[in-house]
Amino acid sequence: MNSEEQPIAVAEPRARRTRQARVAWGSRVVTVGGDAPVRVQSMTNTDTVDAIGTAIQVKELAQAGSEFVRITVNTPEAAQAVPYIREQLDRMGQDVPLVGDFHYNGHRLLTDFPACAEALSKYRINPGNVGKGDKKDKQFAQMIEAAIRWDKAVRIGVNWGSLDQELLAQLMDANSRRAQPWEGRQVMYEALITSAIESARQAEALGLDGSQIILSCKVSGVQDLIAVYRELSRRCDYALHLGLTEAGMGTKGTVASATALSILLQEGIGDTIRVSLTPQPGEARTQEVVVASEILQALGLRVFVPSVTACPGCGRTTSTTFQELAKQIDDYLRAQMPVWRGRYPGVEAMKVAVMGCIVNGPGESKHADIGISLPGTGEAPAAPVFIDGEKAMTLRGDNIAREFHDIVEQYVQRRYGVR
Ligand code: SF4
Repeated sequence: MNSEEQPIAVAEPRARRTRQARVAWGSRVVTVGGDAPVRVQSMTNTDTVDAIGTAIQVKELAQAGSEFVRITVNTPEAAQAVPYIREQLDRMGQDVPLVGDFHYNGHRLLTDFPACAEALSKYRINPGNVGKGDKKDKQFAQMIEAAIRWDKAVRIGVNWGSLDQELLAQLMDANSRRAQPWEGRQVMYEALITSAIESARQAEALGLDGSQIILSCKVSGVQDLIAVYRELSRRCDYALHLGLTEAGMGTKGTVASATALSILLQEGIGDTIRVSLTPQPGEARTQEVVVASEILQALGLRVFVPSVTACPGCGRTTSTTFQELAKQIDDYLRAQMPVWRGRYPGVEAMKVAVMGCIVNGPGESKHADIGISLPGTGEAPAAPVFIDGEKAMTLRGDNIAREFHDIVEQYVQRRYGVR
């Protein structure tokens, strides 16, 4: 007991304070920001001209849990394909909103292909790639006018790889006149934030409602992202899309994204997130959705899939049986979720434990809704199963995994089935 007799404060993410943005298409609306849940986004890597291939990947991403899916709209042919992609998705019963990613020619594509402008739910506009000199304001206005005409939300998405060079040059000049010039990267932070906020104000001045604007300022360094978003959130109350751009592959990309996003989300910064992973050869595109969902679930911000508590294994688990079973259970729960989500409300909050031996196995299994404690080296070849904190049965033999799947399925039906 501590001397002050004070309970230790429970850690939780700070409340977000952005205004709510509204992404609407047809009769459907998804809110972002304010008290809406932090949304998961992803992006396809198919050629948008391949409408069927793109629709299939959008569906996979949506089924994995992506609540917005962005597609590249870079050519007239891609713009022409967009309404067909929407149509295919509707036919497949997928109402996930589509976001069009525009660079350089978005003003023309949104004007020349009204069916594309209408089929998208949100336009991503990069102020650094809208045009140069006199053309910039005009072309930006054309895109905002399309958003107003079709009642679409926009994300003003600044990226340090395509930062507005004219703005950066102005800020560099101003910096050189300071008595104590800032560091180069501090000027870059200022340019990113200024570009995003000034573009948003410009869009509002053109008539776009502030509740249809989402901002992002993406960089690829963890500390840079934290610095930029802390300041961006201090200076405005637009809903914020958060992501580490070009995060990289595999473990590096996953860890860097989780580190940066978790720190900001814990501070109440970020209303939608994307994890920009480079897929490893053979890896599914949906991995970025899995990582984004896991970040939100680990922070206690959202619940997407039943969680599996598994011990790391040690000298007491010298065979691979325990690892294989833990993986099988995790894969099985994920694979069931697209069906379970509709059929068994609340199942996503279920906790499953798969433990390697009697040291922590029974204890951890009792804390879970359903848990199994496998026999460690030298232990009797038996696996006790715990349900709702009580030992329910013991499994033996070669079919422990299959039998445990069946027990989990029966438990889900009994506990979460609609009566
Ligand atoms: S529960 Fe058992 S097998 Fe798992 S890490 Fe602890 S001691 Fe090792």
